[in-house]
Amino acid sequence: MSDAKMAMVNAFDAEAASDLSAADRALIERRARLLGPAYRLFYEKPVHFVRGEGVWLFDPEGQAYLDVYNNVASVGHSHPAVVEAVSRQMAVLNTHTRYLTDGVLDYAEALLATMPPALGHVMFTCTGSEANDLALRIARHHTGGTGLIVTETAYHGVTSVLAEASPSLGPNMPRSPLVRMVPPPRAEGRDAAVVGAEFAAGVKRAIDDLAAHGIKPAALLVDTIFSSDGVRADPPGFLQEAAQVIRVAGGLFIADEVQPGFGRTGAAMWGFMRHGVLPDLVTMGKPMGNGFPVAGMAARPEILESFGRDLRYFNTFGGNPVAAAAGLAVLGVIRDEGLMENAARVGAQIKAGLETLATRYPAIGAVRGAGLFVAADILEEGRPSATLAARIVNGLRARRVLISASGPRGHVLKIRPPLPFSSENAALFLEQTEAVLALI
Ligand code: PMP
Repeated sequence: MSDAKMAMVNAFDAEAASDLSAADRALIERRARLLGPAYRLFYEKPVHFVRGEGVWLFDPEGQAYLDVYNNVASVGHSHPAVVEAVSRQMAVLNTHTRYLTDGVLDYAEALLATMPPALGHVMFTCTGSEANDLALRIARHHTGGTGLIVTETAYHGVTSVLAEASPSLGPNMPRSPLVRMVPPPRAEGRDAAVVGAEFAAGVKRAIDDLAAHGIKPAALLVDTIFSSDGVRADPPGFLQEAAQVIRVAGGLFIADEVQPGFGRTGAAMWGFMRHGVLPDLVTMGKPMGNGFPVAGMAARPEILESFGRDLRYFNTFGGNPVAAAAGLAVLGVIRDEGLMENAARVGAQIKAGLETLATRYPAIGAVRGAGLFVAADILEEGRPSATLAARIVNGLRARRVLISASGPRGHVLKIRPPLPFSSENAALFLEQTEAVLALI
């Protein structure tokens, strides 16, 4: 369907914002009964989807929603090249990494070719959490340390160890005594050396505090775009000094690329490359299989050596032939459709559009981000407001435009569409955002 047609379908409909249908109410009740109380739904009025195509999601009535949020279906919902690769491989063979197969090696070769040559090995998992968990095990084995440093509102995954190192889960999630938190980098118009020194000083304080408690550091683990810390992308280069500081203390620098990886920042395939820093371990997931569960960890070979000698690794589903086919297809689409370049171009358009809106609507504060990962602070009387951010998110949902909010105070709009997001899609998003701002 053309974007122009979508814009019409997308027009605001007061009916859609009214109460839930009986069918959706029944679905919510059934879900709670079967899945229990720990799951959460997006939006005051949850959305029900039955189909996805490109940057659009469709509800049971066939109404289209503009997806400005999904970095899993990163090359577009139901991308035909990924669907075809997965279906073809599934019909032929799906085993695991204990047999000789070509696909996982073809994929490993293609994936490692997107990284600096020093990252010579890649191991496969099914989720980003598993990748971070493996990275941490390897870091602890290699360094002999146990301490872990993360940022104040970090999220790194669902395993026990990672949940205890994910302060964004809130105060009800106890933090491990082996974990220290540091403030995320804050640009505030300053250059990379200054921002980097400030961030590195926080890391140094954390290392000293671990030492004071008799704990040797294993790693500094950061999401290289600091998504859950409110999106901290600039100025490029600020990660270099902190990586040095952790290495001097005997720990490793682990780049969590689950969010910025696979071209999203528009500047490079990987967030760490944008900062000109070489990690010891790189973890990745979400967009890697465009919805098929593929994740992994790249490593400098010298760091894997002792782990490989003393232990062994097998992940039943990790790196299976279908996962490898999905991953290889995704890399091909990013290259063939110029999605990284598109992320740079359309991301800049969204950022500029929001900056223009900020001059007219005081609710919009600072606008940050890189490529198709853009954030806008929402303010009420000059102060961060999660309530107002939620109103904007829900207002956009009523207009069938999907975004979310995050950050330490829940006041940061998170704008992170699939990478084929077009200039027309961006214009529609900005138009609808302005319409919502005009009403609040
Ligand atoms: N790291 C980061 C930065 C993430 O955002 C996430 C998922 N939100 C993870 C790790 C965990 O990935 P998964 O949900 O695939 O386990």
